[in-house]
Amino acid sequence: MALRNIVTDTDHFLRKKSRPVDRFDERLHVLLDDMAETMYHEDGVGLAAVQVGVLRRVVVIDVGDGIIELVNPQIIRQEGEQEVTEGCLSCPGKRAVRLRPKKVTVKAQDRFGKEITLEGEDILACAFCHECGHLDGELFYDNVIRMVDPDEE
Ligand code: ZN
Repeated sequence: MALRNIVTDTDHFLRKKSRPVDRFDERLHVLLDDMAETMYHEDGVGLAAVQVGVLRRVVVIDVGDGIIELVNPQIIRQEGEQEVTEGCLSCPGKRAVRLRPKKVTVKAQDRFGKEITLEGEDILACAFCHECGHLDGELFYDNVIRMVDPDEE
């Protein structure tokens, strides 16, 4: 495993749309392993492949309950609403308050191509939305209630 460099939001690369994965091979597994290692090293709760310079629809998440790997994820259901304060490993120093659904169901594939369906509430629902947004070139502060002043906390 290896740490990868994180692309920051000063780079327009993050606005690109990622392509679906169609080969569930060793190369994908190495990418997933490297992404997990990079996320833990940076103390993040989620990372999308575009953030390490790879335009593929691949996401890793760990909100404290173990690693979740999502390949070609799609949000298929959203319920409720929550106000969250969010940040992003690609946007150092920036935090913002925004609305996210309270509960999210996501359909994806695992690293071997098997279809999986996962439900997430609260912070996990937020992570699903945040990371899936990256795959379409979105950043968490595109649609905010307000930015958080760095001195506020
Ligand atoms: Zn992010």
